[in-house]
Amino acid sequence: MTEIPTFTGPVFTPEDAGYQQEIAGFQTAYTHRPALVAGAVHVEDVRAAVEYAARHRLPVAVQATGHGLSVAVDGGVLVTTGRMTAITIDPDGRTARVGAGVRAGALVEAAAAHGSAPLNGSSPSVGVVGYVLGGGLGLLGRQFGYAADHVRSIEIVTADGRIRTLGPADELFPAVLGTGGNFGVVTALELDLVPVTEIYGGQLVFDTPLVDEVLDTWRRWSATVPEELTSTVAVLTFPDIPPVPQPLRGRHVASIRVATTLPAARAELLVAPLRAIGDRLRDDLRVMPYTESHTVHSDPDFPHAYAATNALLADLTPEALAALRAQTAPGGPVDAVVDIRHLGGALRRGNASVGHRDAEYIVRVITDAGVGDALPEALDIVRAALAPWTIGHSLNFLYGAGGAAGPEQTAAGHPRADFDRLRALKAKYDPHNMFRGTRVIPPA
Ligand SMILES: Cc1cc2nc3c(=O)[nH]c(=O)nc-3n(C[C@H](O)[C@H](O)[C@H](O)COP(=O)(O)OP(=O)(O)OC[C@H]3O[C@@H](n4cnc5c(N)ncnc54)[C@H](O)[C@@H]3O)c2cc1C
Repeated sequence: MTEIPTFTGPVFTPEDAGYQQEIAGFQTAYTHRPALVAGAVHVEDVRAAVEYAARHRLPVAVQATGHGLSVAVDGGVLVTTGRMTAITIDPDGRTARVGAGVRAGALVEAAAAHGSAPLNGSSPSVGVVGYVLGGGLGLLGRQFGYAADHVRSIEIVTADGRIRTLGPADELFPAVLGTGGNFGVVTALELDLVPVTEIYGGQLVFDTPLVDEVLDTWRRWSATVPEELTSTVAVLTFPDIPPVPQPLRGRHVASIRVATTLPAARAELLVAPLRAIGDRLRDDLRVMPYTESHTVHSDPDFPHAYAATNALLADLTPEALAALRAQTAPGGPVDAVVDIRHLGGALRRGNASVGHRDAEYIVRVITDAGVGDALPEALDIVRAALAPWTIGHSLNFLYGAGGAAGPEQTAAGHPRADFDRLRALKAKYDPHNMFRGTRVIPPA
């Protein structure tokens, strides 16, 4: 086993028995292929691994869970953070300090014990740090804004091997938030919590004949709702297999997901036009403890192969929707899950480097077809179809080998002037582009 001086966690090379298990993650289509995996236990381990990589001029990638694998490193060092699971809640300050390996579900549980909630996204198994660094579009996003706008401090190991604690006054602080792992390995974040213990929400699922009507009704309805309500519509074909409950198995459906902190009576009135669309295969809108909020999306929780792209739209026009449906409806060329999230509200405001805050909707397209290809054809087709309305891409939702999260897509994550400023900071803090096992901002 290769030695990293002072490293206390396990270290693996491709010949070691535990190597495959250590690099495996939620994404099963491909993995990082590092020459060395450093299983960090605490911040000094991360510093030792970064210093080792700097000395040998090696690239460094980070993996907590593997949900957001984009650009895989070939050779170099992979720092795995799954062992750094400390959570400390400050109930008076309503903040949480999380280690780099904490998953959303664990933070939701820990915060709930103190009458609070984090600004987590749809899946409890996603890593908190990776999610926040990519922006963090949460279940209550329109009410509270991006999770990256609610960070108090960042502990990070930069390319020079320094452990820095960054606060809002540091120039690197807003650059780190919204750009993924470009500026170093974050070892801990201190985050705001919000005083939320329960929400009203869940899913309304409609069968095939109603899909187009659901999309059009949701499009018009979402433009009228208050900031306290965040919703998504997904169009998908459930696999015809036993784990899928019977009314949904094998069916092509539209599923509207709702989450709001508004009182139930007001929320019921707001969702009435959605229920009026017609019969539902599933209707579980209800008041629920925040600890059940993962059921709003019910994301798959088992590792699988996928590639995804997305388009940020200033508006969801009937023409854009028609162009999307022409490619993704059954019988069309693209077999994919389409998930459209309503943005706007507080997502427009904040200091983190989240690009294109003027987007009102994000269209996400997730497929398992051609996931090992340089750029799966399905993603290319959808990107081309939505191009006339697209103002950019969200970095957190770009996955897949090669071009799916390549330079062109990453550059479209930010308006040009912002991207140039980030490139200048990258040149200052990571001039050799050590942290390139991600959606890369090339040094200026
Ligand atoms: C099922 C599913 C549901 C999702 N739901 C949402 C959602 O609702 N909202 C949303 O905004 N996103 C969502 N995402 C996207 C998710 O937030 C990103 O993929 C995120 O990057 C995952 O982080 P991770 O640590 O779990 O994954 P990993 O694959 O372990 O890490 C992904 C990337 O994050 C960076 N990173 C992770 N940890 C560190 C660190 N300690 N220091 C520096 N860089 C680091 C690296 O660039 C790394 O390549 C979802 C993804 C999936 C697969």
